[in-house]
Amino acid sequence: MADEKHEKHEKDTKPGFQNPVAGFGVTFKAMFKKRLTEQYPEQQKTTAPRFHGRHQLNRHPDGLEKCVGCELCAWACPADAIYVEGADNTEEERYSPGERYGRVYQINYARCILCGLCIEACPTRALTMTNEFELADSSRANLIYTKEQLLAGLEEGMVESPHSIFPGMDEQDYYRGLVTEAAPGTERQVAVSKGEKPSEAAEATEAEGVEA
Ligand code: SF4
Ligand code: SF4
Repeated sequence: MADEKHEKHEKDTKPGFQNPVAGFGVTFKAMFKKRLTEQYPEQQKTTAPRFHGRHQLNRHPDGLEKCVGCELCAWACPADAIYVEGADNTEEERYSPGERYGRVYQINYARCILCGLCIEACPTRALTMTNEFELADSSRANLIYTKEQLLAGLEEGMVESPHSIFPGMDEQDYYRGLVTEAAPGTERQVAVSKGEKPSEAAEATEAEGVEA
């Protein structure tokens, strides 16, 4: 046994004086390899097209919201990061073409692991993920994104929700792709569902108009 140990020791130390030089082998090899260091954030790297980044709540081509407040995304989330409260649309205040819409929508990015299960669960493709990955913040409160932050911006032909459904169309027509932009003359309705009285909401809208 002792002989075996001695033999092994001899084998390990056989190169003797060569050992210190051999130790630099890894260093020399690394010197000629392509550098992997990225100069972030000065130089932004483009992500893969299907990279899972910040979520987005999408709109129909006329600006109405695709979210129907069904909460399936919240139930699918393994990290319990999504909070949804649905509410009924009315003809006076319509956010989506159907019966219901997402009145409150929050994603807590302190919990979210960007797995994408929520977007798979969404039946209306209201929820998708963007390539945006710069989500770090020093405040927990700032990591809770609200519906206003998650809702997609307005594109050409869209009118901000709430507003009435495209005349002559129903919810199914929206999903068939028959609505391609807001009907001429579509106007934003006065939002009253967030606890405001109609008169207060109207005054607020008027005041916004005067300031603008
Ligand atoms: S990406 Fe995953 S963890 Fe994040 S909200 Fe969706 S289901 Fe939850
Ligand atoms: S985002 Fe999709 S799954 Fe989540 S509440 Fe809205 S419609 Fe339902």
